[in-house]
Amino acid sequence: MLYSLDQARQMDREDALSHLRNEFYFPQHDGRDTIYLCGNSLGLQPKGVKAALDHELEHWKTHGVEGHFRGDMPWMYYHKFLTKQAANIVGARESEVVVMNTLTVNLHLMMVSFYRPKGDRYKIVMEAGAFPSDQYAMESQVRFHGYDPADAIVEIAPRPGEDCLRTEDIVEVINREGDSIACVMFAGVNYYTGQLFDMATITKAGHAVGATVGFDLAHAAGNVPLHLHDWGADFAVWCSYKYMNSGPGGPSGCFVHERHENNPELPRFAGWWGHDEGSRFLMEKGFIPMKGAAGWQLSNAQVLSMAAHKVSLDMFDKVGMQALREKSIRLTNFIEALIEDLNQKGHNFNIITPKETKDRGAQLSILTGPEGKQMFDYLAANGVICDWREPNVIRVAAVPMYNSFEDAWHFVNLLRTFSN
Ligand SMILES: *Cc1c(COP(=O)(O)O)cnc(C)c1O
Repeated sequence: MLYSLDQARQMDREDALSHLRNEFYFPQHDGRDTIYLCGNSLGLQPKGVKAALDHELEHWKTHGVEGHFRGDMPWMYYHKFLTKQAANIVGARESEVVVMNTLTVNLHLMMVSFYRPKGDRYKIVMEAGAFPSDQYAMESQVRFHGYDPADAIVEIAPRPGEDCLRTEDIVEVINREGDSIACVMFAGVNYYTGQLFDMATITKAGHAVGATVGFDLAHAAGNVPLHLHDWGADFAVWCSYKYMNSGPGGPSGCFVHERHENNPELPRFAGWWGHDEGSRFLMEKGFIPMKGAAGWQLSNAQVLSMAAHKVSLDMFDKVGMQALREKSIRLTNFIEALIEDLNQKGHNFNIITPKETKDRGAQLSILTGPEGKQMFDYLAANGVICDWREPNVIRVAAVPMYNSFEDAWHFVNLLRTFSN
């Protein structure tokens, strides 16, 4: 190995964030912490979550319905206590963000408002190989408006022999499709390859042809620094249970750019929680949306899952995305360097994630050969939790909040012993 286990441990001692690991529960394997490299799928449980949930259960037990108005975080306003921190994660102003629902639901709500096909402008441009839920969402949106997905959805695929997209190709397709595009909807980070897209350039290109532009940040939020406001995207959605450690089915976040915040004419599917707060409880006819992203809310806050999310947001707030990103880059580069060294010594691991730091987050996707499934099983049998994505990719994400250089070292060492 290019670095010894001792060297990896030394890196952990020098890492200013290494203590954060102690704030999480690790699933156990043979009496030891697993090597958990699956934070891109479900982040680990922060130890503070239980107390936060207990607090809300106590509140409910003690106050019943009055809990909506009592205590330091009354349920009536619960979502608001998350807004500022969530906005920091995605680089947005407070009025541009709301935490609500779950991810695919929010994607549909955003498409209702921002995919408004008309005449010859009806297409959606997206990356080929997007997460299935996004594919289904786009397909059903297109059909809902009476179009044929085969014609109305334009997927941009990598060039033959390549695994990832080139920004110039994305821009080229947007320019070529031009006036026919109603909406450009891209992932921030592709779930399969781990490619981080150039969202600033994609937004600019989409707007230049008169389309709306939105992003699904499921694999980007809490993973890489984001600047949604400055990039000027029209909308974005993300989940909180991957890099943000907020628990299974955790709440989603939603961004609507402030240029849309004062436009009550924008079509939307409405619910009472999006109605003007001052008159919400007059229970009258006639929907008056709240200003900003909050005006897209349907329902009252999912307090229990939001309480877990709040614990995680507090941690992100304390550490800061900048410090997390710096460690993330070092960890990911460390794994890559170890693997490349193995390849020089005759192994053959094919990382399809882009090589440049600016083009990726924490995840590395390793394309496997016929022995792939066996390798995955070997890793699992030796206490590694990572994931397998059909048809033949092993995804690993070293998460800066809780993974160590030692974790990274053990993982690559197991790759080595498997194929020796
Ligand atoms: C994880 C993920 C989802 C999951 O959607 P849910 O509605 O939270 O179940 C959707 N889209 C992308 C791109 C994802 O990575």
